[in-house]
Amino acid sequence: SGGADDMPPEIWEKVKNHPCYSEEAHHHYARMHVAVAPACNIQCNYCNRKYDCSNESRPGVVSQKLTPDQAVKKVLAVASEIPQMTVLGIAGPGDSLANPKKTFDTMRMLHEQAPDIKLCLSTNGLALPAQVDEICKYNIDHVTITINMVDPEIGARIYPWIFWNHRRVTGVEAARILHEQQMKGLEMLTARGVLTKINSVLIPGINDEHLIEVNREVKKRGAFLHNIMPLISEPEHGTWFGLNGQRGPSAQELKAVQDACAGGANLMRHCRQCRADAVGLLGEDRSEEFTLDKIEEMA
Ligand code: SF4
Ligand code: SF4
Repeated sequence: SGGADDMPPEIWEKVKNHPCYSEEAHHHYARMHVAVAPACNIQCNYCNRKYDCSNESRPGVVSQKLTPDQAVKKVLAVASEIPQMTVLGIAGPGDSLANPKKTFDTMRMLHEQAPDIKLCLSTNGLALPAQVDEICKYNIDHVTITINMVDPEIGARIYPWIFWNHRRVTGVEAARILHEQQMKGLEMLTARGVLTKINSVLIPGINDEHLIEVNREVKKRGAFLHNIMPLISEPEHGTWFGLNGQRGPSAQELKAVQDACAGGANLMRHCRQCRADAVGLLGEDRSEEFTLDKIEEMA
């Protein structure tokens, strides 16, 4: 998947320079993430809050947190050094939409100061329906939602709680609310023409077979790509809450689920699970070249 031949021209226009959406583009165009969003509104069992959100990033890698002003400065510095940098994303280290002020201040300034850079964000989807208007206002044309289940019973094994309407909700009720917000958010984005990619974390014994149903449901609602990522379970990433020893999938298990989903939503197989402050081509990380002190020196 991911070439000019297998998608309508108006979609190809939107993805051809986007390394995460086009298999071809990812060799030629670069993306960067800025880590402006520290808070999160849910708890995933696989998350260790000290590190980056696994929506998009490898848990266990600490990113340099930035204010919106610092982030904009950094983006402009990187864009002048790396002309292939076409895409700016906000992917944590928490949830972009659980930090709406920081996320949208950054997006608004970039929309004004660097209108050629494409903007994208990733989210767990809980706050998505309420933010769709804001997303469209700054021309954010790509959104990633992490969806690990469409069955709240399974969700209750992945999410111990969510923070909703100023209170903590737990168990199946929490997973049901999260599920409803994810589906509603996806439908709203599709209706507005925002390209939406779904990330799913494959958790052996919990949602491995279920991801086929997730694939069917997100395709039905207009998801453009479905990216099935392995749970990364190394000791330094923290333990699975209440389920010590939860392992990640083998390469064969991952491929088996990806193959079983083929024919559903287009699958992305080149995602590198980049960190929340990644800079450069996919598979390359130049973030060390653009730390805040180095940007001050360049200015
Ligand atoms: Fe952690 Fe991301 Fe899950 Fe929030 S959405 S708990 S930051 S993995
Ligand atoms: Fe693209 Fe995946 Fe990296 Fe996000 S984590 S920038 S989707 S390759």
